[in-house]
Amino acid sequence: MVASNENGNDEAYKHYSNVLRLLREHHSWFNRCIPLIASENVPSPAVREAIVSDFANRYAEGWPGERVYAGCIYIDQVELICIELAKRVFRAEFADVRPVSGVVANLAVYAAFTEPSDTMLALAIPNGGHISHGKREHSGTAGLVRGLQVETFAFNKEEMNIDVDATIKKVEEMKRNSNDSKVPKLAMFGASLFLFPHPVKELADYLRSNNITICYDAAHVAGLIAGNEFQDPLREGADVMTMSTHKTLFGPQGGMILSFEKYAESIKKAVFPGNTSSHHLHNVAGKAIALAEMLAFGRDYARQVVRNAKALAEALYNLGFDVLGAKHGFTRSHQVAVDVSRYGDGGSIEQMLERAGIICNRQLLPGDIKAGRNYKHPGGIRLGTSEVTRLGMREQDMVEIARFIKRVVVDREEVSKVANDVMELRKDFQKVHYAFDDNVGAYEYISLVKER
Ligand SMILES: *Cc1c(COP(=O)(O)O)cnc(C)c1O
Repeated sequence: MVASNENGNDEAYKHYSNVLRLLREHHSWFNRCIPLIASENVPSPAVREAIVSDFANRYAEGWPGERVYAGCIYIDQVELICIELAKRVFRAEFADVRPVSGVVANLAVYAAFTEPSDTMLALAIPNGGHISHGKREHSGTAGLVRGLQVETFAFNKEEMNIDVDATIKKVEEMKRNSNDSKVPKLAMFGASLFLFPHPVKELADYLRSNNITICYDAAHVAGLIAGNEFQDPLREGADVMTMSTHKTLFGPQGGMILSFEKYAESIKKAVFPGNTSSHHLHNVAGKAIALAEMLAFGRDYARQVVRNAKALAEALYNLGFDVLGAKHGFTRSHQVAVDVSRYGDGGSIEQMLERAGIICNRQLLPGDIKAGRNYKHPGGIRLGTSEVTRLGMREQDMVEIARFIKRVVVDREEVSKVANDVMELRKDFQKVHYAFDDNVGAYEYISLVKER
């Protein structure tokens, strides 16, 4: 069909074409940018192929072999491969690859291991906690959806980490001062602002002796864990580990839960029917491919991601930026946190950088709330090296990026000039690395309809 307006559908066609045009423009824009959002990555051509396949249009509720629908012959085989790969990559007894996102994976864990009104220990949001760990009054998932009471880990700003002794003291206090329901049932490690490994090992015995289940939210660092670069929560005492599949893992967007056989049944029920109906089978196929890529290239990738993050942090520090975590070499993850409050608020700096083609996000930092700042106007920015590493960038490119950031934020150079140099740098990084195939560009637009 070529005609657009035979039935007076001019308006519909206008919107239709407009969306397709905007998709193309996004792709061409991303081809000129430096992507530094810590929660993002770029998938391989193979993962992209999986997610436009017909799996996207099917239902397969339940577990492979025990489906509620027919038509799952190939879907079941792919899901079993995905489960095996997930278990292998994370050395886990049990994997559920169905959660459609990291938040849904967390919800399933809340459902499997807690009852409404139970208490959970988690990081406060300005200290790096995720909104899915949050209190009801902040519309956090744990509080609002599962009805959990959330108590926070004691946090040490200099260390940028959970304070072990102060946390034990806090739990002891809770035990003394209240009835049973106030003693935590679940401890949620992991964070969104996540520079250093959490003290799972240091707290595990104490938590276990108080019957507190230990969950580790690896949404951000799953790819580093898979590549043996960060920490190994399931060996350090975690009972269960949740994650997103698209931050330091290779995509597509989705979630996963890893755990031990003894928890398998309760987790399975919590995922389906508890928290999902359709579990987005194209993404299961994409996850399987991404996990195979991790198995083959994960070690090299994770090592370079962390090297790049350290190089970026050091370069920014050397240019005069206030980089967090100085005491421990700035970072051991893919993230770099910078206090930019000397130059303006994180929100406006994020916008300036975007105009220069540097895509990152504003970040609430420890102490921001006390200083009267908020999540819209925080004191920091967060930079992540997961995606630029996938594009093949190395330490010397991080030094270049740090200079671009300084030119925008400190020197207030005209953003279009910086944008040009950003584009120049990107010209050499057009393909996805750490993948079996690279026959289309990282952000190459693949069209299935006629050119407009
Ligand atoms: C990103 C993130 C999530 C949520 O992941 P989605 O896949 O976006 O739902 C959960 N926990 C933490 C710590 C995160 O940073």
